[in-house]
Amino acid sequence: MFGLSKLFSGKSAEKEPLLDALAAYRSSAFAIGIEAQWVKEITINTDKSFKVKLELPFAGKGELAQIGEFVSNKLSVSVSIDAEVSLPNQCCFKQIKQIVLVASGKGGVGKSTTAVNLASALEQEGAKVGILDADIYGPSIPLLLGLQGAEPKTLDNKTLLPFEAHNLKAQSIGFLVPSDDATVWRGPMASGALNQLMNETDWGELDYLIVDMPPGTGDIQLTMSQKVPASGAVIITTPQDLALADAQKGIAMFNKVNIPVLGLIENMSYFLCGHCGEPNHVFGKDGAVKLAHRHGVPVLANIPLAIEIRESSEQGQVISRDNAASISATYKNAARVLASSLHYQQTQNSSVEILITED
Ligand code: ADP
Repeated sequence: MFGLSKLFSGKSAEKEPLLDALAAYRSSAFAIGIEAQWVKEITINTDKSFKVKLELPFAGKGELAQIGEFVSNKLSVSVSIDAEVSLPNQCCFKQIKQIVLVASGKGGVGKSTTAVNLASALEQEGAKVGILDADIYGPSIPLLLGLQGAEPKTLDNKTLLPFEAHNLKAQSIGFLVPSDDATVWRGPMASGALNQLMNETDWGELDYLIVDMPPGTGDIQLTMSQKVPASGAVIITTPQDLALADAQKGIAMFNKVNIPVLGLIENMSYFLCGHCGEPNHVFGKDGAVKLAHRHGVPVLANIPLAIEIRESSEQGQVISRDNAASISATYKNAARVLASSLHYQQTQNSSVEILITED
C-alpha cells in the first residue's frame, strides 16, 4: 500500500480502519480485496458514518451494496459506497480497452444468448460495452437485441454507425453477407470481414467489446481469432460429453494463438424442477468443472436451462436486465468475475485463482 496518509490527509487515523476493512473484503470478483488506490474520496459524516467513493478498474458495481454491508459490519458503523468504473487507459484496439471473444466448440449450445447477456451484464456493472456478431454461420445478435430489419447506417460513407439497443452498441457480420452464403467463407475472407467491421465501425470509446465468434475450432475460427487483438476468450459449453470434448478443442485453439482463456460457462447446466425446486442435471453433472480444473481455468457460471431465457431472447429482450429474474444475478456475477480476471491478468500478469473445485 502506498502513502495513505498523504492521500487522505487530515483525519487519516480515522480512515485507516476503513481502508483495512475494504482491503479485507473477498469475493470471486474481488479476489484480493479493494485496493487503496481505488479509493477516491472518503467522507466522514457527523454521526461517524462513512461515505466512500471508489474508482473501479473493472466492471463490478453490482457488488457495492455487499461490500458496504461487509465493511459496515466490520466497523460497526454505517458505510455507503458509490463507484465509477474506469478501466486503465490502455487500449487494445482504437478506443476499445478490452476485446473478449465468446466461442463454443459446437453450435446450438447458447453461445450468442450468453454473449448478449454477458455484454449487458458488463454494462449494468458500470462499463461501456459493445457487441460484435461475428458468427458467419448464423448471425443472431440483431434478433437477440430486437434489431431485426435494421439497416446499417453511415454518416460519411466510410464508417458504419453501430446500432444501439439496451445500452449496448452492436454490429453484425450478417449485415455484410447473408448467412446462407456461409458455406463459401474461408478463413482469410472471414477474418477480413471481421477486421473490416472492427475498423470501419465507429465504436467510440468502449471498455469492453464482446465478439460472438462462429462455433467450432477449425481453420476459419483459428484465423479469425488470430486477427483480432483479443484480451481473452470465454468458452460456452453444455454438460454433454460431446460438447465438452469440443470445448476442450476450443481451449487448445486459443492456447495455440496465445489468447488467454478466461473461463468456461456451462449453459443449460441444470433444469430447476417446477414441482420440488430441485436442480435436475438433465445433460450430466460437473463435466465443465472437471474440464476447467484440468486446464487451470475457472467456471464463470452455471446457467440453467430455463424457459424464460429462450422466451426473452425470442422477444429481443435481454434477461440479465430483468432484476426480477433470478438468472440476472448469475450473469452479472459471471461478468464481474470475467472483468476482474482480465484486470488481474493484465496488472499482475497472472489470473487470480477462482472457484475451481476438485475432481
Ligand atoms: P448458439 O449461439 O450456440 O448457436 P443460441 O444462443 O442461438 O446458440 O441458442 C440456441 C437456442 O437455445 C435458442 O433458441 C436459445 O433461446 C436457446 N437457449 C440458449 N440458452 C438457453 C438456456 N440457458 N435455457 C433455455 N434456452 C436456451
